[in-house]
Amino acid sequence: MAPDIPTLRRDFPTLAQIVNGHPLVYLDNAATTQKPQPVLDALNHYYRDTNANVHRASHALSGQATRAFEAARGKVARFINAPAPEQVIWTRGTTEAINLVAHSFGMHHLQAGDEIVLSTLEHHANIVPWQQVAAATGAVIKVIPLTAGAELDLEAAARLISPRTRLLAVGQVSNALGVINPVRELIAMAKSVGAVTLIDGAQAVGHLPVDVQSLDCDFYVFSGHKMFAPTGIGVLYGKREWLEKMPPWQTGGEMIKSVSFEHTSFGELPFKFEAGTPNIAGAIALGAAVDYLSGLDRAALARHEHKLLQQLLTGLAAMPDVHIIGRPQAGSVSFTIDEVHPQDLATLLDMQGIAVRTGHHCAMPLMQALGLEQGTIRASVAFYNTEQDIAALLAGIHKAREFF
Ligand code: PMP
Repeated sequence: MAPDIPTLRRDFPTLAQIVNGHPLVYLDNAATTQKPQPVLDALNHYYRDTNANVHRASHALSGQATRAFEAARGKVARFINAPAPEQVIWTRGTTEAINLVAHSFGMHHLQAGDEIVLSTLEHHANIVPWQQVAAATGAVIKVIPLTAGAELDLEAAARLISPRTRLLAVGQVSNALGVINPVRELIAMAKSVGAVTLIDGAQAVGHLPVDVQSLDCDFYVFSGHKMFAPTGIGVLYGKREWLEKMPPWQTGGEMIKSVSFEHTSFGELPFKFEAGTPNIAGAIALGAAVDYLSGLDRAALARHEHKLLQQLLTGLAAMPDVHIIGRPQAGSVSFTIDEVHPQDLATLLDMQGIAVRTGHHCAMPLMQALGLEQGTIRASVAFYNTEQDIAALLAGIHKAREFF
């Protein structure tokens, strides 16, 4: 059955507003998604009714907060099919999760000459931490190039991944181009040479079902705010063997068993990686986002999003001076318009209440590889977008082209 989008939209208070005199058309979901009422309620409920620190005190509120916080970990574990909740480590987001792996795994398990394989499509968050590791350890970064169609070149990947490869770190869905990468094939290639795998799922979790056991990756990372939860909370999933072996990254309170001035022994998983007071409200609200999504027919929502992308791609393809970049499949569509600076178009669209993103999308090496120094215009959908949203964007682009 087709999802009842107008009814679902009522769950998202931000969507029902007038921006610059027009109803908001929010097409910047790859940057961050809007939050449904149950997520806002979860945040409010925690701070109003149960605010207390977790794991430490024996008083009632602390018990309630701890139970809600740990229940949220269990919800996230089930959402991504992790074998156990303790394999879900709370982080601030994708960036911090990758930094955790870079420091804890990369700095301790990589050596001079080891190769780290990334792809041209990566977000800066999945490039810069590995550069730091390479600079400190002497490991070498290798980059999977693109095909002429701006997709990840699997044949080149097969040549690049060798017994020297120690780590493969790639995104599941490109935030800049909306292409779905063949992560299963890449993980299989990496495993055949004994390399460790990290999948950046930041742009996948809001659109695709994720099953970390079926993917069989060693690490999977994502941000709550890209899947209708608040900012400041994210997840590192890891295989137990690695999480057990890796040393803590940040240290301090919450992550210890015992401390003396001579010696500290660290806590068990997941606490060993969670130094300091965590984002309790954020974790609980991420649990609420998981509940919310789990109550919807996600396959039907994915079909709806797919229809929106087709509508957008067909509309753009009919404009001769518009160039769609690559083959968008999930979430984002990037395009350029001859003689129009992306930023100028975005400003004109904003005047019509239409929110899109322009620029390099935190993927400067990708933009360089594509020869797009000015970046692109990116429209990115979530399930709450409508055919009217896409029609408004296409009409806005028409209007802007006349203006220039
Ligand atoms: N990777 C990808 C593919 C992303 O889209 C983003 C966010 N734009 C990140 C990593 C970084 O996520 P965050 O800023 O939430 O840490």
